[in-house]
Amino acid sequence: STVYLNGDYMDAEHAKISPMDRGFLFGDGIYEVIPAYNGDMLGFTAHIERMNNGLNELEIVLNYTPDTWRIICDQLCNKNQGKNFGIYLHVSRGADTKRAHAYPTGITPTVFAYAFEIPEQPVSIIESATTYTVSLEQDKRWQRCHIKSTALLGNVIHYQHGAAAGNKETILYNGLGELTEASSSNVFIVKDGVISTPPLDNQILPGITRWLIINILHSHSELKVHERRISKEELLDADEVWITSATKEVGPVIKINDTLIGTGKPGKTWQRVQSLFTLHKFDY
Ligand code: PMP
Repeated sequence: STVYLNGDYMDAEHAKISPMDRGFLFGDGIYEVIPAYNGDMLGFTAHIERMNNGLNELEIVLNYTPDTWRIICDQLCNKNQGKNFGIYLHVSRGADTKRAHAYPTGITPTVFAYAFEIPEQPVSIIESATTYTVSLEQDKRWQRCHIKSTALLGNVIHYQHGAAAGNKETILYNGLGELTEASSSNVFIVKDGVISTPPLDNQILPGITRWLIINILHSHSELKVHERRISKEELLDADEVWITSATKEVGPVIKINDTLIGTGKPGKTWQRVQSLFTLHKFDY
């Protein structure tokens, strides 16, 4: 496949990064994944903004404009075989000559991007929806989950616990027993027709899909989303639970550990929201 590295396009085999790169040694970097269906990117501006927020927080200075990024994404879609892609963007602080924890000065960030194939766009049909059984466990990651850091080991371990139990995600709760998010998704619940999701803070990633759903419902529907603390008991007792991410869109959860959610099938509210999402996801 063709990848992008520091200004050039090349075959993945020929892309070389120094082992002294702080992305490799410290996980010192920021990443993004933008979905592109037939070359149309979803939430492009919001994804780039989130990446820039992360870079600013880490004091990584990079002079790429949104247009620069757009060209890279378009090129990766064009140069690779396939229809639908997740476009992975990665900026690390760069390679240093010595080992030091402090941010070095005068090094150049490493910029890497590639495209991986993703399945067809999710559908809003109950019978053919991709559904999720998930694990539930206490969130043992760090206290800066709003940063989309390339240091994903905490998330990977949580995801792996779910995978080992035969599940496709792991939903997390904090030390107070409050829902945070999942290892690679945000979480929504529905109870008696009311949609809720945890508020944005340092415990969760500000998901672009989450943001799109809230915007779409705000401008196209009588349905509202309440951003509030949710206990794990409420989660398990919900009529519907969804996990959301760039590639899943609104993913219906049918089982959490041994607890069946609702009837064990995607719910009516899910169907309505995924339908609205399908209609309006490229508006933003
Ligand atoms: N939370 C975490 C921890 C994630 O890694 C992701 C992205 N896979 C999300 C939430 C969802 O974010 P987005 O909707 O921007 O994909």
